[in-house]
Amino acid sequence: MTFTTSELLKKVPTGLLIDGQWTQASTGETFEVENPATGEIIATLASAGSADAIAALDAACAAQDGWARTSARERSDILRRAFELVTARRDEFATLMTLEMGKPLAESYGEVTYGAEYLRWFSEEAVRDYGRTLPAPEGTLRMITRRKPVGPCLLITPWNFPLAMATRKVAPAVAAGCTMVVKPAKLTPLTTQYFAQTMIDAGLPPGVLNVVAGSSASAIAEPVMSDPRLRKVSFTGSTAVGKTLLKAAADNVLRTSMELGGNAPFIVFEDANLDQAVAGAMGAKMRNIGEACTAANRFLVHESVAEEFAERFAAEISKLKLGNGLDEGVTCGPLVERKALDNISALVEDAVSHGAKVLTGGKPAGGKGFFYEPTVLTGVSLDSRVAKEEIFGPVAPIMTFRTEEEALALANDTEYGLASYVFTEDSDRLWRIADGLEFGLMGFNAGVISNAAAPFGGVKQSGMGREGGAEGLDEYTSVQYIGVRDPYAQT
Ligand code: NAP
Repeated sequence: MTFTTSELLKKVPTGLLIDGQWTQASTGETFEVENPATGEIIATLASAGSADAIAALDAACAAQDGWARTSARERSDILRRAFELVTARRDEFATLMTLEMGKPLAESYGEVTYGAEYLRWFSEEAVRDYGRTLPAPEGTLRMITRRKPVGPCLLITPWNFPLAMATRKVAPAVAAGCTMVVKPAKLTPLTTQYFAQTMIDAGLPPGVLNVVAGSSASAIAEPVMSDPRLRKVSFTGSTAVGKTLLKAAADNVLRTSMELGGNAPFIVFEDANLDQAVAGAMGAKMRNIGEACTAANRFLVHESVAEEFAERFAAEISKLKLGNGLDEGVTCGPLVERKALDNISALVEDAVSHGAKVLTGGKPAGGKGFFYEPTVLTGVSLDSRVAKEEIFGPVAPIMTFRTEEEALALANDTEYGLASYVFTEDSDRLWRIADGLEFGLMGFNAGVISNAAAPFGGVKQSGMGREGGAEGLDEYTSVQYIGVRDPYAQT
């Protein structure tokens, strides 16, 4: 790398982005960003209040009509340039993500590739915003549908994938011709700030993308959500906050996309290829330090292979090197904040008090950062909290089953429905399980399945709407139907 971290941090804008200008908060307030590996304060940013949030919406509304009239090619070209710039700045983006969120540098590079793909994908989708034509069955009309941008959007992102969660909302909004106010998570705003500057560098006109980071999410979101000019809210985060936003969205009948929490089952059948299952488990559980909505949360393993799977999985997990994600060879970073560390510790203590056995890990690793040892638990009771709640950390609870029906019933026994994973060599069983699983995403003999070209999203309390794929653009458009009198109509 050709820069030091302090040189990099100087490049990141610290203000609010409103109408193409980086400005200070109207109240003069600021908030701090911490490195979870060291506890050090690494940046101080302007903290938006309600007046700033409304100023950002003013800018988005003023830009909306002109932006909607730009050609699809123009919007596509901006996204393509943004893809190329993010890729060229990969060292900066990867380092920033590790600094503010903690993941190992190699994983941050992986997120740069993954996050940038949304820019490339939607630069390609922007020019393929298809409508339909069809004759009215009675022959009275020629019927045409076309897609129009939904209008100004509020995009709220979480801290766990600071680049990808932003690009998979911003890119389709830009492609569709929508303007937007983005509110990044307060724990990891730096990547979004740098990404917003990158969008400007790629040629995005003022007012199309406005960014308001701040210490109070509700002070920013509430006034924007209650403003009748807003047309859509897209949110990625916890189910609890998603429900609050859905209730608020009802007042103005906003379009909503909700990417919420998960509680993914990872099912290993007796005929599974255990090499594939263990490799898949490492990806599904340990990617992003377990802090992913798609993370395997409950390992459901057939009783005949449970012991062997657990031992092999624990052996792989104990090879992980815990440490500061910027350090060479580190493969597991810290949790994002003290609260997360305390929560994981409490979850494991609860599982052990319900009879679970710790095969590896099982306690905080100490030091200045928020480190927890990667952990495998066996004999986990269905009554323990790890079996019911989203863990969001490097802890793998293993439970057993006897029959396919039991596996399916256990897997579906959750209010969530985002990701699921199934390992079997039997293709008939695969389809029976796919029919029975109530989840928006399913990995078959694969532990990492997110892709910009695929529709990502959940069912049940994991949310509604899809990001990525062709479906991702639909979320930012409204269908307009035009009925044209058929020239051969009788009247
Ligand atoms: P969170 O607490 O719900 O926060 C997510 C975002 O919402 C942050 O920007 C947060 O701002 C903001 N927020 C908090 N309270 C708000 C309010 N009252 N009004 C408006 N915005 C509000 O979730 P998190 O802890 O950051 O993220 C973890 C959760 O996200 C997990 O449940 C995970 O499963 C889910 N997730 C889902 C997906 C998916 O695609 N389904 C992807 C990634 C993560 P502050 O940072 O200022 O609090």
